[in-house]
Amino acid sequence: MSENLKEIVEEISKNDNILIVGHILPDGDDVSSLVSMTLGLEKLGKKVTAAIDDEIPEYLLQFPLVKSKIKKFEDVEKIIYKNYDIMVILDCSSPDRIGRLEKYLNAFHVLLIDHHVTNTYFGNLNWVDPSMASTAQMVYRILTSLNVEYDKELATMNLLGIATDTGFFKYQNADVLVFKDVTELIEKGANISDISNTILDNIPLEQIYLYKDVISNLKLALNGQIAYSLLTLNMLSKYNVLPKDSPSFVENLRSIRGVEIAIVFQEYAKGSYHVSLRSKKWADVSKIALNFGGGGHPRAAGFSVETNDIRQTMEEIVDTISKTIANHNPNLAFQ
Ligand code: 5GP
Ligand code: MN
Repeated sequence: MSENLKEIVEEISKNDNILIVGHILPDGDDVSSLVSMTLGLEKLGKKVTAAIDDEIPEYLLQFPLVKSKIKKFEDVEKIIYKNYDIMVILDCSSPDRIGRLEKYLNAFHVLLIDHHVTNTYFGNLNWVDPSMASTAQMVYRILTSLNVEYDKELATMNLLGIATDTGFFKYQNADVLVFKDVTELIEKGANISDISNTILDNIPLEQIYLYKDVISNLKLALNGQIAYSLLTLNMLSKYNVLPKDSPSFVENLRSIRGVEIAIVFQEYAKGSYHVSLRSKKWADVSKIALNFGGGGHPRAAGFSVETNDIRQTMEEIVDTISKTIANHNPNLAFQ
């Protein structure tokens, strides 16, 4: 057991009232980590509350435990000081990622558990391991070290994050450890077809129409190595899709032959855009995102931008990225 894992496990063992915190723009790994940690610690008789200061996308609310176990910021704020001994933050690389909960960081002993290479180590006790494909696997290690008994429900919720952060076991991060952990969770009763039926084979029709419009905005740069597109609030309202429920379609853009980097500029408030980046084989998009004030992983990263002229901003950003990666030798960058 690594030294940090050991310290995290000791700290959790000796505290009974635990606030678990996830990140804004929550994804499958984050909600899986929060729900698994909550279920696991509840099995040990601890008083646990999980909170995220953002709306959870509809595809993740399809899992009843995500809906019932993760609270809104407003619901925990009133009781925050008197009720918890420690704060456990999961899957967050920097303090801004926890939204308004950031102002409570100094009120607690903070345990930070994360796998982002861009992590800023803002906890009091940090276990950061970028070699892990998902935070859900780190939660799995914590819970098994605490001798939590897994049932089908917990195993399935824990598997969810490994599935989503590896693109259902097909990204470069799908390593031996992923398949070992998956094997163990399946042995404990996890149901992978439940997860894939709920997420992959359950797309609302309006999202398919939206995809058609995203494709009509598609542009290519750097001899077809960069694919980028725009998803505006107007496009969403045309099909009555809420921003929090919309996929960015960035993975669809990456799937195009010859594309190394896919970028989608997604408007979430008037003039405010979240930029999602994905790469296929060699480009390190975490470095690109970091340059623009965001963060993430080598193959999946993001940042935000404010602009009144998104089309021009897109061209400027794509131009900067083109220049950065044109200098990279793919063979060197692959090492
Ligand atoms: P997505 O494009 O799906 O929103 O994000 C891809 C990855 O990049 C995720 O692992 C997410 O944690 C990270 N990421 C996205 N946006 C930001 C951001 O603004 N700041 C930081 N630090 N990480 C981000
Ligand atoms: Mn993650």
